[in-house]
This record gives sequence, C-alpha cells and structure tokens, in this order.
Amino acid sequence: MQRAAPQSFDRVLSSMCTQPHPVAREAAARFVATNPGDPATYQTVAALEEDALAYLGEMTGLSTPHGYIASGGTEANIQAIRAARNHARDDDPNVVAPESIHFSFQKAADVLGVELRTVPVDVDYRANVDAVREAVDDHTILVAGVAGTTEFGRVDPIPELTTVAHDVGALMHVDAAWGGFVLPFTDHEWSFAHAPIDSMTIDPHKFGQAVVPAGGLLFRDKEILDALAIDTPYLESTSQASLTGTRSGAGVASAAAAMRELWPAGYREAYETQQANAEWFYKELVARGYDAVEPELPLVAAPLPDSEFASLRDLGWRISRTASGELRVVCMPHVSRESLRAFLSDLDDVGSGRPQLY
Ligand SMILES: *Cc1c(COP(=O)(O)O)cnc(C)c1O
Repeated sequence: MQRAAPQSFDRVLSSMCTQPHPVAREAAARFVATNPGDPATYQTVAALEEDALAYLGEMTGLSTPHGYIASGGTEANIQAIRAARNHARDDDPNVVAPESIHFSFQKAADVLGVELRTVPVDVDYRANVDAVREAVDDHTILVAGVAGTTEFGRVDPIPELTTVAHDVGALMHVDAAWGGFVLPFTDHEWSFAHAPIDSMTIDPHKFGQAVVPAGGLLFRDKEILDALAIDTPYLESTSQASLTGTRSGAGVASAAAAMRELWPAGYREAYETQQANAEWFYKELVARGYDAVEPELPLVAAPLPDSEFASLRDLGWRISRTASGELRVVCMPHVSRESLRAFLSDLDDVGSGRPQLY
C-alpha cells in the first residue's frame, strides 16, 4: 500500500498552522516517546519545558513565568478560566469577553459551568471598553481580551480592560494564541510588561513554528497556577496542573527548539516578511475594488461574492471566512508573495466583472 502524504502548504491561505521549523521537527522526533505530564519520571523533557517557559516569559515581559506547555490555545483558555474559577470560589461565576473572542471560550464555559458574557466590539473590531465595564459585576471572575483576533487580527485595549477587571476584583486574561509571536515586534500594548494582566495564552504551534501540539499558558502569580493542581497518587510526580494527563513531549521539545533557534531574530524576520505580504495583498485587493479590512497584524479580511469564493476553493485554494462572511487570508510563515500573486491571478480569472481601477 502507498504511504499517505500530508497536504502541501502551497495553497493554504486561511490556516493558523504552518510548516514547523526543521529544528522543531527534529526535536519532536527525538522526544516523541516522552511524557511531560509526569516530569519526575521524564526529567529531560521537563527541563526543556522550563526552557520553553523561560523563552515565553522573555517574549511576554514576565521574568518569573508560571505555567506549562499545553496542547494548544483551547486547553490554555479553558485552564485560565478554570484557575480563575477555583481561585475565586464564587457561587455564580461569570466571564466577560468581547464577541471577537475565540470559540474555545464557549467550550470552556460549557465544561466549567461558568456564564460567558460576550459584548459588542467597536467599528474597528476591537473590544469596546465601555461595554465590558457595563457587563462586569461582583461575580465576574475573569475578563478576557484578545491580542490578535482570529478573524481580523485585531489587538484589544489590554491596559484599559485590565483596569476594568481589577476594579471588580476579577483576573485579566489575554488570549495571544496567534498574535503572541509577532506582537513583540510591534508597538502594541498587549503583554505582562504593558499592564498588570494575570494570565496569557500564547501558542508555539502557530507563529512560533513548533509542531502541533504546543500551546502555552502563563500566569504572573504561582498561586493562580496552583489553583489548578490536583494530587496524582500513582505517578512519580505528586501533582499535576495540566488538563491533559499524558501529553506530547514532541510538542514541548519542539517548542523549546524553535524558540532557541528563532527568538528573537528569526521571529522578527518572519513578522516583517508577513506583515509586508499582508499590506501588499491588502493594497492589491483594494486596487481591484474589494472592500478589504486593513491589516493590523499579518491577516487580511475582505468580503468576496459566494461564487468567487467557491470557484477559488475549486481551484484548490484552502480558504475560509469570518462569521460575517469575509475571506480571511492569514499570512503565516509558509505564505509566499508568489503564492499570493498566483491567488490574485486566479481571483482575476473568476472575478465577475468587478470595477477595475486603472
Ligand atoms: C487558534 C486560537 C485559539 C485556539 O488554539 P488551538 O491551538 O487551536 O486550540 C484560541 N485563541 C485564539 C485567538 C486563536 O487564534
């Protein structure tokens, strides 16, 4: 029987996953049979997890990071809410977030029995601070903001949201699952260095170029991480804070290897290349008469007629849409200018008599 081959990344334009860096692949293969869920037994990979956390701390302005390498942003977000809930011990807890929050928050609210209150965003798709202030109350255990939204790549006003959260005694969480590896090279205020935020999600398996599964969960205070710990009678290690039990040493080792190789120069170069690609692609769409959304981070959204969207998919382009219907092009490290040119050429071929600006 023929061996199955994975998809090529040539025409993948809407995914937040990318080609892992070669050093990440190699480290993943070397550590595939280790379990960081039991660090007392698997000590080498446990030491790599400490390395990975130290890198994440450096990127996000946290000198003593507490946390772990999770299976992804979904687990990290669930765990941030779980930690806040366990810490607060409120009998009727709620979480307040902008409607641009990632769908993993719906899962978190469901499994944890916490009410999720989502509030409208402003005209530029960022959290509306006044709306968040109106939604919080004495039972709010956590306010979440997004630093790099999944649909439009927007950064919420994190310092202002942190003030709103702390005014009612809630914790402040920043979801930088996608944006965390590009934001250090921008002027945005998003990290532990910019505001007294309490926790953060940041995924090495997206812009960090680690292999899947590698997410990151960081806490400023050890006490909040400890609200996740449970006893583990039959392991060599005596307690565990992660949601998964056995977990992949491949993800942990690859995250450490990728960050050792790429932080900061390699990540800066990837950001600059892809931000330039996004701005170029945006201008090309606007020149063709599309009402595209200006990119703040390397992600371009643009309304596209159904027929054109379907034709481009038929041509093999792997593209998706926002909830409100816009095409999303995520300029991940594998996306080349050449591939964007080829996409535009196909768009011109399938375009239905759009006004051209010459
Ligand atoms: C991708 C993403 C997530 C979910 O992360 P997974 O690794 O897919 O579980 C959460 N939040 C944001 C902002 C994301 O972009």
